[in-house]
Amino acid sequence: MPIYEYRCRACEDKFAHLHRRADEPAPACPSCGAAAPRKLFSVFSASIAVKTPSCSLGKCPSGGSCKTGGCPLG
Ligand SMILES: [Zn+2]
Repeated sequence: MPIYEYRCRACEDKFAHLHRRADEPAPACPSCGAAAPRKLFSVFSASIAVKTPSCSLGKCPSGGSCKTGGCPLG
C-alpha cells in the first residue's frame, strides 16, 4: 500500500495519505477540508534531481572549477 504526500491548494498544509487501492482518489485536506490537493514528488525522486550536475546554474558539485572551463562533470 503506497503512501503519497499531498499539499493543500487552499491552506498549503502538507499531509500524507495511505492508499489502500491504486485507483483511490486524492483525500480532502485534514485541516480545512478542501478537495483535490497537489500530489508531491517523493523524497526519493527529489534527491535524485538535486544530485544531477548542473554547471550552468553555478552549482557544480565539482567545487566551482567549471567556471574556468575545466569541469570534470561536463
Ligand atoms: Zn487545507
